[in-house]
Amino acid sequence: MPEGPEIRRAADRIEQQIGGRVIDAAWFAFPELAEQASSFIGVRVVRVDTWGKAMLIRFADQRVLYSHNQLYGVWKLHSEDKPPNTKRTLRVRLTAEGRCASLYSASDISLWHADNLTEHPFLARLGPDLLSQKVAPADVQQRLNLQQFHKRSLGALLLDQGLVAGLGNYLRSEILFFSQLPPNARPVDLTPEQQKTLAACIIDVTRQAYQTAGVTNQEAWIAQAKAAGESRRQWRFAVFDRAGLECHRCGAVIERKMVGSRRLYLCPRCQAA
Ligand SMILES: [Zn+2]
Repeated sequence: MPEGPEIRRAADRIEQQIGGRVIDAAWFAFPELAEQASSFIGVRVVRVDTWGKAMLIRFADQRVLYSHNQLYGVWKLHSEDKPPNTKRTLRVRLTAEGRCASLYSASDISLWHADNLTEHPFLARLGPDLLSQKVAPADVQQRLNLQQFHKRSLGALLLDQGLVAGLGNYLRSEILFFSQLPPNARPVDLTPEQQKTLAACIIDVTRQAYQTAGVTNQEAWIAQAKAAGESRRQWRFAVFDRAGLECHRCGAVIERKMVGSRRLYLCPRCQAA
């Protein structure tokens, strides 16, 4: 499953394709959307956002096209005269100045007004998106201390999209490592200083993954790991997928555990309780 940074990069590609451009044709498979297709002609696409794993295409008339790819959906970008050769079912096609963004196979697609978007049943449960919304470390720290979160173990909490949207399994391990915290620690157990570090890491590691297409490790450590013959799959992360290898920081052997029925990697020395 792609995590927030991968979804945000997909949104960037759609924005490059049709963002700032005026719609000259819209096509929708679902009848309730299809009847509105012609009303998009002449309307500008202003921005493409993400919220967790949802894609939000924002139009100048304040309408927002919500889509969630779940496991099967895929966006394909192409020119009007060269539609993709695929057996997938087309669900949405937006054509702007001859450039197309086509969504295949996804079934969770709906149209909203910007003012009502937070009433969407999926979005209403999500915390802020670290890559599409302005979120500061103090905001994340405040959320860690909310009643519904502060007594939960970080191993579970970091995968809860209600805390912040977009974190997934590799980010969880990487954030805990850079925060030097074990997965069973709870926000309520941490000193204000530790909470501050954790909040900053939640944002920084996620934004780094977005900027680097999924590399969350530090440059000096990447150089060391490459010199030791590690594959990209291993050097791109500080701990994730590195069970049995040495911790970059202290040399202890990285361990793999199951936490919340997903694999988690940690350094037993740097992240001691
Ligand atoms: Zn270590």
